[in-house]
Amino acid sequence: MHWLIQRLRLRKHAMIAIAIAVGAGAVAGPALAAKSSSKKAAPAAAAAGPAYQDIVNAAYAKFKDTHEGKNADYIPALAKVDPNVYGVALITTDGKVYSTGDLTTQVSIQSISKVFTMAQVIQEQGLESIEKRIGVDATGARFNSIIAVEAVKTVVGTGAPEMNPLVNPGAISATSMVTGANADAVWKKIIGFHNDAAGRPLTVLQDVYKSESDTNQRNQAIGALMLAYGYIKANWPQAVDLYTRQCSIGVNAKDLATMAATLAAAGKNPVTSKQVMDPAKVPGVLAVMATAGLYDDSGKWLYHTGLPAKSGVGGGIIAVSPGKFGIAVVSPPLDDAGNSVRAQRAIAAISNALGGNPYAARR
Ligand code: GLN
Repeated sequence: MHWLIQRLRLRKHAMIAIAIAVGAGAVAGPALAAKSSSKKAAPAAAAAGPAYQDIVNAAYAKFKDTHEGKNADYIPALAKVDPNVYGVALITTDGKVYSTGDLTTQVSIQSISKVFTMAQVIQEQGLESIEKRIGVDATGARFNSIIAVEAVKTVVGTGAPEMNPLVNPGAISATSMVTGANADAVWKKIIGFHNDAAGRPLTVLQDVYKSESDTNQRNQAIGALMLAYGYIKANWPQAVDLYTRQCSIGVNAKDLATMAATLAAAGKNPVTSKQVMDPAKVPGVLAVMATAGLYDDSGKWLYHTGLPAKSGVGGGIIAVSPGKFGIAVVSPPLDDAGNSVRAQRAIAAISNALGGNPYAARR
């Protein structure tokens, strides 16, 4: 019960913060400014630049002294990361960057990598490949739940699997679907896709990779089960190892925002202009993020922001306002569901102030 009360309390604070930020946005917000000055709605990305930077700065400052939550510690290296690291970056679909705070410290990307490996499989093998093999439904369970695997195993082979590529079992399976003659060839493709979305060559944080490799027996068990139940076709140890490596990729807030902005801009990295993914395949990726990006808190997150998003236990969260912007916050302390506390609050405040919710139609 205690965790529930704590989570409700966190949620209440988040709501107050959102209300305040929306209030501030109403004064300086580009959405309202565009409406009053012209009958034609201006695309948000083309709206006044300074308002974006002001809103990013205000949200950063508002949550700077928030110290709720706790670093993940089930991967020993994550417990050692400075909990004060806090960076915010927003990149519009026309490539403008608004950022503040710590933009240089790299944290491990963790589960945010699941989005890009899923995207790569979809890009290479089509939208149906993921839907048929893994499924695109929420499990409603924690990200590394084995009970969730047991609950859905009976439908494999007889119907569509009720899993998704953003929880560990589905993600390890998605990694196993990336084709390549050997582990190195598969890894080159995985890191290559991440690099293209981030717009720079990323590297693995070796201390995190080693720490997680030494302690990931639970993920190994999940990998073995996924082979047993037909989600993984061969070599589950390779899939678990490559998954662990992809989770250890180092990223800063700007890298993550660029990756989010690539999805916001229909698969084209708006900073490098490289088309990373077919535009027609991006909505499927965003749909799974909306369904399962914040694990068992995905519904609440969507209710408050409307944004497809993805969190990682390294402390990062990315969120996508399609056609408008990608946003990312890095701040390691997590809530009980495994989502960064400050990142959730700052992203919600910024997006809501900018009219980022895709469900909020303008009239
Ligand atoms: N590498 C982590 C794990 O498998 C990723 C989990 C996460 O970010 N939620 O446990």
